[in-house]
Amino acid sequence: MWKSKILNQFPEIVHGCVGKKYGPIGFIPEQHKLIVKNRENLAQACMFPLDSMRILRQVHGTQILRVTHPVPTQATTTDTQILPAADAMVSNTCGITLIIRTADCVPILLYDPKEKAVGAVHAGWKGTLHNVVGKTISEMRKAFNIDPTSLNVVMGPAICSRHYDITTCDDGRYDLFNERFPNSKVVYSNKERLFLDLFESNKILCLEQGIQQNHIEQSIICTFEESGQWASYRANKERDAYQNWSFIYLK
Ligand SMILES: [Zn+2]
Repeated sequence: MWKSKILNQFPEIVHGCVGKKYGPIGFIPEQHKLIVKNRENLAQACMFPLDSMRILRQVHGTQILRVTHPVPTQATTTDTQILPAADAMVSNTCGITLIIRTADCVPILLYDPKEKAVGAVHAGWKGTLHNVVGKTISEMRKAFNIDPTSLNVVMGPAICSRHYDITTCDDGRYDLFNERFPNSKVVYSNKERLFLDLFESNKILCLEQGIQQNHIEQSIICTFEESGQWASYRANKERDAYQNWSFIYLK
């Protein structure tokens, strides 16, 4: 499990990023019992109640869900259709664990110790381009009156730019990021290959919102490089039920 130095300072929250350690935890109806057992083990080891979990049907968008209560059935379902479609959650209710599921995309955890408000974001390239993290910070300002200068932002394990080769992506990604992040190292070329840095782009988006530089932390784990321990969509040719879970629980 990877934990943030910044978030470790706050005893009122429990947080972490978990890779393959507890086995497959994704949605497979045929392996329902195993998946639920693995989730139980994960929740127990990570010290949050299984019944407190909130998960989303992440769709690479910018919808933000304001969470006010846990939904216990989410913990034990392997039916993705019953989950709300959104890519971020915010809450100031105690007893809820916000969970973001990834495999190369950037999981982002947010915490404001003054207003005791938490957030969790799924930022792949589309969400990053459409500023899902910035919109989540705005939502926290509106909903909980947080001040961005006291907000902490933590990016968990994700694919690093050296392994995020976008040369063959024909969706215009390189130009789109170049336009959105001029004069930066968010996209770059090396030996005729093109690369995209999701950590750097999300960091810039946070700075634009007034987050302090020393309140931003980034994991040095690359999910692609360490795909033995972490779920990596790009490293795994076949889709499986492994997922990285990043969680934040306000006690
Ligand atoms: Zn890497």
